[in-house]
Amino acid sequence: MGKTYKMQHNRPECIGCGACAVIAPDFWEMNDDGKSDIVDGKDMPNGWQEKIIQEKDFDLNLEAAESCPVEVIHIIDNETNKKII
Ligand code: SF4
Repeated sequence: MGKTYKMQHNRPECIGCGACAVIAPDFWEMNDDGKSDIVDGKDMPNGWQEKIIQEKDFDLNLEAAESCPVEVIHIIDNETNKKII
């Protein structure tokens, strides 16, 4: 298995602009409550969501994270635990 990353969504702080879902619709979708969800993401007790992504999907999700105006999308290197964004 190749490199993996943990993607995190601080959903409570999401303002529902829709940018992530436009850029990476296979990974991000808009919910009826006006915020975005990670597609098949895991709901955490604190309201955040998480999903492990593969290296091939890193660039696209990095672009989504960079597009977020309130910087609530984070990507962490699973090997080093280093926060990339
Ligand atoms: S880009 Fe950020 S603020 Fe906009 S919907 Fe996605 S997570 Fe929410």
